[in-house]
Amino acid sequence: MKTHLGATALLAAGVLTLAACGAGASGSGGAPATDGGNTLRVGIKFDQPGLGLQTGNTYSGFDVDVANYVAQELGKTPTFSEAPSPQRETLLKTGQVDMIVATYSITDKRKQEVGFAGPYFVAGQDLLVRQNETAITGPDTLTGKKLCSVKGSTSAQKVQTDYPGVQLQEYDTYSKCVEELANGTVDALTTDNTILAGYASQQQYQGKLKVVGQTFSQERYGVGLPHGDTQTCQQVTDALKKMVESGEWQKAVDKNFGPAGFKPGEGNPPTPDACA
Ligand code: GLU
Repeated sequence: MKTHLGATALLAAGVLTLAACGAGASGSGGAPATDGGNTLRVGIKFDQPGLGLQTGNTYSGFDVDVANYVAQELGKTPTFSEAPSPQRETLLKTGQVDMIVATYSITDKRKQEVGFAGPYFVAGQDLLVRQNETAITGPDTLTGKKLCSVKGSTSAQKVQTDYPGVQLQEYDTYSKCVEELANGTVDALTTDNTILAGYASQQQYQGKLKVVGQTFSQERYGVGLPHGDTQTCQQVTDALKKMVESGEWQKAVDKNFGPAGFKPGEGNPPTPDACA
């Protein structure tokens, strides 16, 4: 907040100076950019409670808190747009966003196209099933079952590679998968345990869905950046370290995952990787 307040105070001082000089802005008073190019365009999820959720024009979740913290450390004001899993690399490569904070796992494959700072959280792939489900107890019990996941995610990729006997149905968002699970169109949904916990605790699904609770991957969440931007990577890495050291990381965990009863697993809080 310090940096932001500082900037606001400077702006206010500038306005006062102008006014005092009577520097007749002649109607162009509304024209000067209020952010002076100080905006940080961040891609987040809009439909993942506890991580990235849009409610009206407000945004909440652990990823949003991480984005806000990082933006503040960079002296910038964040604006948010939706970054669905299949579009993340493209959004960064085309410069439509400056940064992505959207349950975005650091992988070697993605590193060929984009950069990452982090990890800032370690999650694990798990399964969400209906409350009365007894047959599905882990990924080995999915043969012949209808499983929902999202295009371009590590979750879908892992199933295709390691569990080829599963009938995988891929959508653009996990919230679509949850609907299909609740209405019986699919038998299970797979993605990170963080995301699944958020859905299971949503009011409309309470008592209807359950997380299996056997993770079968390690998902290291990184802040996605344009490929090769080492300078920003270093700044974001410093901010992530400070977020943990200051206690703000833990506060954000408690605030966002607490209501779902989700507790961070092994490896948290992680130490970010070196940049480049
Ligand atoms: N963390 C995984 C990934 O980056 C799954 C969650 C997601 O799709 O955002 O693919």
